[in-house]
Amino acid sequence: MISRRKLLKRLGSLPLIGGVLGSGVPLTGAMAASEETSPKRDIVKELGLRSFINAAGTYTAMTASLMPKEVMDTINFSSRHYIMLDEVQDKVGEKIAALCHAEAATVTAGCWSAMVLGTAGVLTGTDRDKIRQLPNLEGMKSEVIVQKSHNVGYVHAITNTGVSVVEVETAADVDRAVNDKTAMMWFLNYQAPDGKIKHEEWVALGKKHGIPTMIDMAADVPPVENLWKYNDMGFDLVCISGGKAMKGPQSAGILMGRKDLIEAARLSAPPRGGTIGRGMKVNKEEILGMYVALDEYIKKDHEKEWQEWEDKVAYVAGVVEEVEGVTTEVSVPEIANHTPYLKISWDPNKINLTREQMQEKLRQGKPSIEVISGGDHAISMTVFMLRPKEERIVAKRIAEELNIAKV
Ligand SMILES: *Cc1c(COP(=O)(O)O)cnc(C)c1O
Repeated sequence: MISRRKLLKRLGSLPLIGGVLGSGVPLTGAMAASEETSPKRDIVKELGLRSFINAAGTYTAMTASLMPKEVMDTINFSSRHYIMLDEVQDKVGEKIAALCHAEAATVTAGCWSAMVLGTAGVLTGTDRDKIRQLPNLEGMKSEVIVQKSHNVGYVHAITNTGVSVVEVETAADVDRAVNDKTAMMWFLNYQAPDGKIKHEEWVALGKKHGIPTMIDMAADVPPVENLWKYNDMGFDLVCISGGKAMKGPQSAGILMGRKDLIEAARLSAPPRGGTIGRGMKVNKEEILGMYVALDEYIKKDHEKEWQEWEDKVAYVAGVVEEVEGVTTEVSVPEIANHTPYLKISWDPNKINLTREQMQEKLRQGKPSIEVISGGDHAISMTVFMLRPKEERIVAKRIAEELNIAKV
């Protein structure tokens, strides 16, 4: 076991637990979490839960990503030690800040929690009375400026603190909107192409008016450079999910940025109670697991990983295109889940199957597989959440169902 661990360490770029050094046989979901020590209690089986191959992506509803061995080792190891919660946060915060070119950082209960706590910090500073008072904003600023196209569901993380959103479209709108009550300017990274004001100008407007800027880039690695890009650019607060492509704990995220704001944000977070953030607890195992996930993510060979994704997508495309009436298309979203997607479409005159039927057949099959909609008579899938060799099972199962439904 020791030599195996060493080997795993040397193969630092290994993206996932299991498979490669194991039997070589693709693992079922229940087995994958810990193939090293086969559990005495298979809880997935015991409770009759459906585990599945995730060819969909990092969806919260699908439990997003699987933590790699390095992260699970960290969680297991630290679970045997007591450490003061603030001391873990202090140390991990320093390390994360250094890795991501930020002044300071803290681990939060996901990107959403990072946004709530970050906004709280901006509103209250280190004033304990104000911290206790939230979300009652009496005596505090109460408005956050958001571009109209960025004002979607995620903004609720900001309004949790009691603030209201002021919509703008142009830089001139921002100049007009700023007043004594303006607390912050919030930017939703994946909506950047739809907004009139781009990143640099948003930051510049914030600096001009002395208003802190925050960016939500929850799902926006890869590319890895995004981890420091927005800190370098001058955003005062940067929020990211830990349990998406970084494969940290699903219930962890990172808030990083200006030292004074991170310090203030932490005053609304556990272990302190009587605050709006008390319910957003992250335990020491997750905090340390988040740090290791980030560290491992930064260190991995990203070009090699990208090539593997392309190869897997090409493999699936090759197999399913063998079926007459099937076409495929590869695309990569510019921002958010920036990874190759494969759209598989079929001619309904040749293959009698709706998209919903296809999804249901894959879901009910053995092993169960989740893909996403690609439109009418089309499904879409990703490969970045697959365990080794699962692309073969996915390709085979999709081709099987397409063949069965041939007219
Ligand atoms: C996933 C996501 C969030 C929430 O992140 P969690 O880590 O699940 O809290 C916020 N904003 C965007 C754009 C997201 O994609």
